[in-house]
Amino acid sequence: NFRCRSAFKLLEIDDKFRLLQPGHSVVDCGAAPGAWSQVAVHRVNSTGTDPELPRGTVVGIDLLNIPALDGAHFLSSHDVTAPPTHAKLQELLPKGQAHIILSDMAPNASGFREMDHERLTTMCLSLIDLAEKILQPGGSLLCKYWDGFFVQKLQDNLSSVFGSVRTLKPHASRKDSAERYFLARMYKKPVKKK
Ligand code: SAM
Repeated sequence: NFRCRSAFKLLEIDDKFRLLQPGHSVVDCGAAPGAWSQVAVHRVNSTGTDPELPRGTVVGIDLLNIPALDGAHFLSSHDVTAPPTHAKLQELLPKGQAHIILSDMAPNASGFREMDHERLTTMCLSLIDLAEKILQPGGSLLCKYWDGFFVQKLQDNLSSVFGSVRTLKPHASRKDSAERYFLARMYKKPVKKK
């Protein structure tokens, strides 16, 4: 039983792209109420349910409270875009590194489509800073966005640090909504400027 129907979007994407492997470390941004984390816990074997397989790690973050879930570590009342949250993640993850960052984050809709689009895009761009701190080379980022004017900039920024970036529209996502996902793979850590 999933906490939210959004689980089906992640299941659909993961069935196709096999992003979540046993033993992987996953960061779930905007995790409340926890349905994506439920999928991740199962797929990376973070409860150790299958003792034959490596045991993964799932860390979820949300501004809201996320009810406890076996196999996941939750940072409730945390802002994904805030640097102190990044530091906590570095402590919680094995070797301070994640294989994949998931983001189903969304701001509270203001009703003004352009404004909501811009706010969500800014949140997505901050995930690139988070990636620089915790995503291991070769890692992946899956993030929700709302289609609009700033998407090209987001895609360009993702393409500068990921080997492959594609747009996904899961069947489980309402056809008439502007919701899409970027799947960015093969992360290349940017070279530090001196
Ligand atoms: N994927 C979740 C699931 O399957 O249960 C549903 C996520 S819901 C669509 C979006 C979430 O993003 C909300 O719970 C919201 O509080 C959270 N959110 C929005 N801005 C955030 C931020 N800056 N930091 C952390 N969480 C944020």
